[in-house]
Amino acid sequence: MLIFESIVSLQQYLKKTRENTSKIGFVPTMGALHEGHLALLKQAKQENDLVVCSIYVNPTQFDNQEDLTHYPRTLAADTEKLKYIQCDVLFAPTNIEMYPTPSLVAFSFGHLDKVMEGQYRAGHFSGMATVVAKFFNIVQPDTAYFGQKDLQQYLIVDQLIKSLSFPIQLVRHPIVREADGLAMSSRNRRLSPAQRAKAPKLYEALQLAADWLPKAAIVEVKRRTQEFLLQAEGPKVEYFEIAHGHTLEALTTYQPNTPTALCIAAFLGDVRLIDNLLLH
Ligand code: AMP
Repeated sequence: MLIFESIVSLQQYLKKTRENTSKIGFVPTMGALHEGHLALLKQAKQENDLVVCSIYVNPTQFDNQEDLTHYPRTLAADTEKLKYIQCDVLFAPTNIEMYPTPSLVAFSFGHLDKVMEGQYRAGHFSGMATVVAKFFNIVQPDTAYFGQKDLQQYLIVDQLIKSLSFPIQLVRHPIVREADGLAMSSRNRRLSPAQRAKAPKLYEALQLAADWLPKAAIVEVKRRTQEFLLQAEGPKVEYFEIAHGHTLEALTTYQPNTPTALCIAAFLGDVRLIDNLLLH
């Protein structure tokens, strides 16, 4: 596996490689790699001639300095995992390489970036879109892989690609879960054993909500779901929304054939977890 820290050297390599490589797949990550990330990379390996993975903890998408400071950084272990699955290229730039001058651009995605994560993490999606657009320009992949774990991010990247006419095919990978249902996340390693034991309640709550949806009003489903997590002394809910799966507009009634997203964010101590279920 080739490892690049510099944009210019990566671009020089990719320019040469493109002459006899028909398809480049790209998987952007913030590192602390787990089986969820690796599943995206394995799919990318199957569908492309060359796979580029980036590892970069992007400061412009963190609204909370504490979260940025505590974000796990495990580059040596990540490199070994990438070699093991035969990733071709790792791009791991420094902050100065990515932002030689402070970033002044800002993105807005209408309703999509105002709700849920956008409502609770000020500037998060503008920072995310900035770094993803920079990566798209640097790597110029044919295909880019994003996880459903961050559904709102996926929908915004889809909008970004359409708005800026990036010639990139976007692929959404399903959520990879632990055996007990907890969605894999780099932040899970910050959970204490007691918190880790409670964490699967989040997915349980989503499944219960999905079961209730055809039989009860949406307000009632939301109430029962919050109640379940309270009773179970599970993660403390920041938001729980039932929305259209493409636009994220809140749904007032459940329609069996409408794409429906159940999205939740909750805290265990100071660790923030998100999860979702997509119906239809
Ligand atoms: P991150 O390093 O958290 O920014 O994640 C990098 C990419 O991996 C994003 O597209 C995430 O949605 C995706 N991802 C993270 N965790 C999972 C998971 N459990 N299942 C599927 N995709 C995931």
